[in-house]
Amino acid sequence: MGKKCPEYVSELNDYLDGTLDEGLCSEIEKHLGTCANCRIMVDTMRMTVTLCRDGKPEPMPDALSARLNGLLKTRWEQKFGKPQP
Ligand SMILES: [Zn+2]
Repeated sequence: MGKKCPEYVSELNDYLDGTLDEGLCSEIEKHLGTCANCRIMVDTMRMTVTLCRDGKPEPMPDALSARLNGLLKTRWEQKFGKPQP
């Protein structure tokens, strides 16, 4: 039995930092090969990490920015529900 997605999410930070141990790393990579959800999550996190590390005020391309915002909004709403008007 493999782990469920939420169990991976907490390890993705370490994975992106490169501090996760080898066994877990290959486990995650294997999971990413089969799970589009987690792949999107990693891409999003990786992008955020890169942006933070660069610390450049360069704006993101509009299309990418809109896509990312839409994705984050959707995830947020799935997790916490839609904001009340
Ligand atoms: Zn997953």
